[in-house]
Amino acid sequence: MRDAAQRMPRGRLRESPGWCAPPLTSATHGGILLGHGATKNPSDRTLKCDVLIVGAGFAGAVLAERIASQMGRRCTVVDRRDHIGGNAFDRYDGAGVLIHPCGPHYFHTNSDRIVEYLSQFTDWRPVEFRVLSYAGGRYWQFPINLNTFEQILGRPSTPGEMEATLARWRIPIENPKNSEEMILSQVGPRLYEMFFKKYTRKQWRRDPSELDPAVCGRIPVRTTRDDRYLSDRFQALPRDGYATMFRRMLDHPLIEVRTGVDFRDIRSAAKWNHLIYTGPIDEYYGHVFGPLPYRTLRFENETLAEEFHLPAMQVNYPGDEPFTRVVEIKRATGQKIPVTTIVREFPEDYGPGKEPYYPVPASDARAQYLRYADLAAREPGVSFVGRLAAYRYCNMDQVVGMALAEFDGLKERKPG
Ligand SMILES: Cc1cc2nc3c(=O)[nH]c(=O)nc-3n(C[C@H](O)[C@H](O)[C@H](O)COP(=O)(O)OP(=O)(O)OC[C@H]3O[C@@H](n4cnc5c(N)ncnc54)[C@H](O)[C@@H]3O)c2cc1C
Repeated sequence: MRDAAQRMPRGRLRESPGWCAPPLTSATHGGILLGHGATKNPSDRTLKCDVLIVGAGFAGAVLAERIASQMGRRCTVVDRRDHIGGNAFDRYDGAGVLIHPCGPHYFHTNSDRIVEYLSQFTDWRPVEFRVLSYAGGRYWQFPINLNTFEQILGRPSTPGEMEATLARWRIPIENPKNSEEMILSQVGPRLYEMFFKKYTRKQWRRDPSELDPAVCGRIPVRTTRDDRYLSDRFQALPRDGYATMFRRMLDHPLIEVRTGVDFRDIRSAAKWNHLIYTGPIDEYYGHVFGPLPYRTLRFENETLAEEFHLPAMQVNYPGDEPFTRVVEIKRATGQKIPVTTIVREFPEDYGPGKEPYYPVPASDARAQYLRYADLAAREPGVSFVGRLAAYRYCNMDQVVGMALAEFDGLKERKPG
């Protein structure tokens, strides 16, 4: 293993060998981009800037890039983590395998505008993301498709037979009010129990009957042989990784990035004309209506001295195992290296010192969020953008879309 750990990946991947994106220096321009856990001056809380952006994930990075390059305004981006890219960042682990430390991030979209926008900062590696589900001691194709149906029958079948069988298995529910009803109305109790029920409970520590219909409803059920995990037209990964893409977005003379800086620590002393806040909305308001519920994740990584380990990029575990999925992102990144790293994902309750990965998609949490949203709507000089500020699960493309829309609005209003 030591040999493998010393071997560097080839080609452009070499650009980001360390923990997330290495810093670009500002020697040749006015911007200061600090990565790798550095801060310009950790004790400097008296920051003065034109546009202050809290969060260097998709929401913050897109807005910083747009405001700097299109409006010519100076932005300071702070992130309390020691890297840029938010949850989407990637890095090489000790064995030299490119991993997604905050969970696998499969980029997919139907929006040409979003692909065009991001393509200014990256080329793409087209990937069709494929997933298996391990249940009852064997692997099943997932999401459910004609091949899965044939696995269940143990013989060849047809789309017509699958459709007719599903029509018998389904429970007719006209307007599913929750995730349980949604899945029962799509595939019936047998497949619900097999693939969804325990998986969803593990993920959310709530019964599917307590969760919004969209949580399970967004997983496609196909009567064709299309076995791709996602259905969007465009499915890819940034060719040189997410960290490199973010680094290029933020590499502008008018953008300064300070990582390892928590907005809560600088809030009282810092001065800005306009604030863009992409952190948790309940935290911004000091939890005045109580903390919003989130779920977090614990990741367990295992590096193995073999080229590939899993039979697919991702294997779901919808049974009694304490983890929900195991991911071998190397199958998607296309990295050529004789070792591999697999990552087990354990859903956990959110608490101090943990990352708020998932807003809980349930009506009680939504009602609580709306009280915060009401305050936010009346807050002058602040844009709340991104999945934590909007308290809802959003894919990366949706957050990019949200940030571009916010930018259009800011351009009209000329904030600050
Ligand atoms: C496990 C997991 C897997 C996912 N997989 C996919 C996928 O396959 N495909 C897909 O399209 N989407 C996926 N997503 C969703 C994707 O991560 C989000 O759409 C995207 O990262 C949201 O960007 P953001 O900027 O809104 O939030 P974030 O990426 O969370 O960025 C917000 C940043 O704000 C910082 N911050 C918060 N509070 C403060 C503060 N007080 N001071 C300073 N900084 C602060 C945080 O540290 C964070 O870096 C996944 C999400 C998770 C959790």
